[in-house]
Amino acid sequence: MNNTEIIELTHRNMVDVYGCLPLAFARGHGAYLYDADGNRYLDFFCGLAVTSLGHGNPRVVRAIKEQAEKLTHVSNVFHTEPTARLVEKLANHFGDGKVFLGNSGAEANEAAIKLARRWGNGRFEILTTLGSFHGRTLATVSATGQERYHQGFQPLMPGFRMVPFDDLAALDRARRDETVGVMIEPIQGEGGVVVPRADYLKRVRDWCDRNKLLLIMDEVQTGMGRTGKFFAFEHVGIKPDIVTLAKALGGGLPIGAMIARAEIASSFTPGSHGSTFGGNPVACAAAVAVIDALEQDGVLENGSSVGAYILERLGKFARSCDRIVEVRGLGMIIGVVLKHDARPIVEECLKNRLLVNGTAGNVLRLLPPLNLTREEADAGLATIENAFKNAPIPK
Ligand SMILES: *Cc1c(COP(=O)(O)O)cnc(C)c1O
Repeated sequence: MNNTEIIELTHRNMVDVYGCLPLAFARGHGAYLYDADGNRYLDFFCGLAVTSLGHGNPRVVRAIKEQAEKLTHVSNVFHTEPTARLVEKLANHFGDGKVFLGNSGAEANEAAIKLARRWGNGRFEILTTLGSFHGRTLATVSATGQERYHQGFQPLMPGFRMVPFDDLAALDRARRDETVGVMIEPIQGEGGVVVPRADYLKRVRDWCDRNKLLLIMDEVQTGMGRTGKFFAFEHVGIKPDIVTLAKALGGGLPIGAMIARAEIASSFTPGSHGSTFGGNPVACAAAVAVIDALEQDGVLENGSSVGAYILERLGKFARSCDRIVEVRGLGMIIGVVLKHDARPIVEECLKNRLLVNGTAGNVLRLLPPLNLTREEADAGLATIENAFKNAPIPK
């Protein structure tokens, strides 16, 4: 099928919740995607921070093929080797952790919310932040601090309250007897790549300790090396009580994980929680291959140095471009804050075969593969800089 045929067939039959761009992709290789008509695109979008090793990474493809041929599913009533290997790796990266596996970021956060309530033993309220994004299930959308995701779904699930991000005093004012913890993204991704001040997360950690509250970090987007370290919280030398991962974990296959300190995880007992597909051996084999690549292929180092280069070059460009307010980010999660809606820039880049994402209205979000080369970075940056010169300014 060509682009037009795929798009028409989809529109006729699929619930329209995504407002898709008019493009259908057929294959990918490294940092490049090819549409169904054979056109090549440079990918600074990575399926929303999912394909962090690029497309068709040999380690990941081999792991998926080999496991698919051996065994694809047995349920959590039984054990499999890929699942055992993955939970060992995740528990070790976290340090003294226990892992629950699901299929998505929302499910990882659901597990964290349910675990916090079990552990709270009567305390149930979780404080979250304005501008946050935690998922689309009813609990995680209730935890999400953006009203546009709530519209039409009320009543929301009780047990969440929102405070401004990067504001410890606001957290302290919001705390009540029934508060059990805080759920926070180290960098708000979907909310516009909002990076808190250097000491915020450390101070939230100390405040949680003083008040016997759980610190739950949603690293669904920032984890798995996106910021240059395995977990973003490693940059500030702290450790949360619970962390969630998904997006890049499976190298393109659906998988999510909740990792909790062992003593907290013990509040879950057989029958407390579960997921039919969670820990699926094919998804786990892919995730093990992704972690191997992060550990052995210099991917984290490359992501941090090429990311720093992109940040620096865009920062310089911004000084001569009156359409840009600020460039911010860490490693390979980069936001360019515009004085206007990001859409014309996204569309201009698309016309020139570069995939980028617009979020929070006026933020251009770049999520390139962590193993992007300097040359690929330069090619993408030239397209972005030209887009600022050529795209119309919206009213
Ligand atoms: C994407 C995202 C989620 C939701 O993940 P899904 O896999 O879409 O359920 C949750 N939290 C953060 C920070 C995210 O970026």
